[in-house]
Amino acid sequence: MDYRKLAERLLPGNYPAPESYETLYPPRNLPPKTEVTRLAPSPTGFIHLGNLFSAIADERLAHRSGGVVYLRIEDTDLKRKVDGAVEAVISALKYFDVKFDEGAEIGGDETYAPWYQRQRAEIYRTFAKKLIEEGRAYPCFCTEEELSALREEQTKNKEITGYYGKYAKCRNLSEEEIYKNLDAGKPFVIRLRSLGDPENKFKFHDEIKGDVTVTENDQDVVILKSDGIPTYHFAHAIDDHFMRTTLVIRGEDWLASLPIHIELFRALGFALPRYGHHCSLMKQDGETRRKLSKRKDPELSLEFYRKEGYFPRAVKVYMLTLLNSNFEEWYLKHPDADLNEFPFKADKMSKSGALFDLDKLNDISKNELARLDERGMFAFLKTWADEFGTDAQKAYFAQEDKLLRALALCMGVGGKKRRKDFQTASQAVSLLRYFFERPETYEECRVPDQIRRAVLVDFDKTYDASDDAQTWFGKVKEIAARHGFAAEMKDYKADPAAYCGSVAEVAEILRIAVTGKANTPDLYTIMQILGEDETRARIGLGTK
Ligand code: GLU
Repeated sequence: MDYRKLAERLLPGNYPAPESYETLYPPRNLPPKTEVTRLAPSPTGFIHLGNLFSAIADERLAHRSGGVVYLRIEDTDLKRKVDGAVEAVISALKYFDVKFDEGAEIGGDETYAPWYQRQRAEIYRTFAKKLIEEGRAYPCFCTEEELSALREEQTKNKEITGYYGKYAKCRNLSEEEIYKNLDAGKPFVIRLRSLGDPENKFKFHDEIKGDVTVTENDQDVVILKSDGIPTYHFAHAIDDHFMRTTLVIRGEDWLASLPIHIELFRALGFALPRYGHHCSLMKQDGETRRKLSKRKDPELSLEFYRKEGYFPRAVKVYMLTLLNSNFEEWYLKHPDADLNEFPFKADKMSKSGALFDLDKLNDISKNELARLDERGMFAFLKTWADEFGTDAQKAYFAQEDKLLRALALCMGVGGKKRRKDFQTASQAVSLLRYFFERPETYEECRVPDQIRRAVLVDFDKTYDASDDAQTWFGKVKEIAARHGFAAEMKDYKADPAAYCGSVAEVAEILRIAVTGKANTPDLYTIMQILGEDETRARIGLGTK
């Protein structure tokens, strides 16, 4: 068969000489052992935890070696393209301090641009044409119906499904048949002519999983679809070669396609990059573990963490905990270190499913937030509120002094032990509500209504905002005694039947009236922050 003629018929026109791309995209001028990694998302508009998981690994492995991490957009599947999706990827990752050196909408060294696959059509066609000329690729005219009938037959016979061996009908079409189909205007795809034998198995070193056994590929996979657009298999091989990627980190779902990729790189005459396939993020669901799902688990979307106002460092610490088995121990020893100092290694990445547990993340978040001072917290909460807060919440930040005092109190700044009340920005800002707005609802008080009101009226009479904490508490004790409560806890404990409660219940009455809540930090300080008028107004409302 005259393959040159066939190639010209299938992909007519002048294409650059394939070798010319080697000079156009020269090997990077980097010292040995420097890694070039990439994140290669599809611009679907849905950016998820798995992307962050890969991106942190990509960024760390590249930068720890002094190398480069770039962003490539795999947009060959037009159906899934969403406007603004690339910006969404960049900004979602930036929130977690993952920054790229080069790539789509980032710029950087333009040598390896463009980074959108749809802008690279010519290079894919050049190499498809080369493979056709060499007899390593051929046109396939099978229709969707024929292919699904084939799949059904193979499934019925319990055989491996796909287009291979005796099932690869178009692989052996004669020259005459091919041209007849082409003359009839039949649509076609271009397939690789596989030379592999599935009887042959070989060892492959995966940077994460270690040595894995790979079966030779015999699938005649599609490399160019009928619209001339490449498949992932083909495009990634060309791009990772010409963007000079040294290490491909991707999800373990791709491990099954590795034999195809190895054959494609060989057929194209390219050296294979190193690969590391990381495990999927799993979730415990009752008795079983399953992959996080877009439909069931809102926490899969990175948008969730921004809307809730997760502290970026906390999410990163948790991701690193899941990514590298020795991170947790290192972090215990270096709690204040820059996370980038952690010696991140691919071979320390977990080999089988990483269990993602939101409760664990929430614990880490509380700890991380407890390390901020009130000014750091103010800045973090303000950034969140500016974007996601209600108008009322945004207004809290205009009263800077008051908010700083409230934060210092709620965080226990300067106290013996820091409080860990704050978990996320949205939750923290809601907790701060009573400093700025009167309670809308009141938690239940254990004391009967009549006594409760009498206590509030009494408090209002004796309250003096200029009292110090000790005097204030002395007065609360007196009120307790006047209304049948034990002023001292030990008295109450010695003879509970003699009292209608203790000073603790009196404090609860005041606390609920002022804040709406039965549990808060120090009530005296809350009243100081609210000021006399507001405190009296709330006490007054409680008596109604
Ligand atoms: N576009 C592929 C994906 O989003 C990229 C896989 C890879 O990193 O090679 O799954």
